[in-house]
Amino acid sequence: MKLHFIFHFIQTAEQEEEGLWIGLFFVIALIVLGIWAQLQPEEETHHEQNLRYYLENEPDLLSAALISLVERTNPSLAKQARTTFNEKTLKRYIDNEFEGLSPYDHRRFPSLVSEVEPTNPTLANQARKKYQDYKDDEIVVTFEVDITEGNQKKKRSRRISQDVKDKVWRRDEAKCVECSSNENLEFDHIIPHSKGGANTYRNIQLLCEKCNRSKSAKIG
Ligand SMILES: [Zn+2]
Repeated sequence: MKLHFIFHFIQTAEQEEEGLWIGLFFVIALIVLGIWAQLQPEEETHHEQNLRYYLENEPDLLSAALISLVERTNPSLAKQARTTFNEKTLKRYIDNEFEGLSPYDHRRFPSLVSEVEPTNPTLANQARKKYQDYKDDEIVVTFEVDITEGNQKKKRSRRISQDVKDKVWRRDEAKCVECSSNENLEFDHIIPHSKGGANTYRNIQLLCEKCNRSKSAKIG
């Protein structure tokens, strides 16, 4: 009888231990399931799918509107798309020499450059320089209006930027555009600086010293 009792006691203890292990197994299974569910990517929305497709295959089709739509549901994808979109926009401005930009584009320009600066400082710098050249052209217009009114208000610098000099040098193939000499070359304002000519690529040419002097003599 006594032996039977002990035997029963051992059996119960074994069963309890077994139950403990089963319980532990379920707890661990639940935790693993929970972690797995957390790691599953949420299904992308229609807008996110479109944006990802454009970003990877057709970056020219990216639009500010679509990026804004994705901003709330997938900020990191939106940020990535915005970086590409901003760089593309800035490149387009430069390629078109800032022609045909709306007043909105002009107001947006400084912030666009600052947004591109951290990811592509070279492009941001290039945009700043080219925009300055473009603005110089605008000053010419103001200036011409002023001189027809006999009212010369603006003092402008004669300084030609290194970027413009390099471009003119390449365009004119390092020789005088009048006589093709490659000696004593000078950067000449086609419309003289004194008459409102700008320091821009389109208004600068290469002349040798001789041709430049004879041009000055003719204009007087
Ligand atoms: Zn010459």
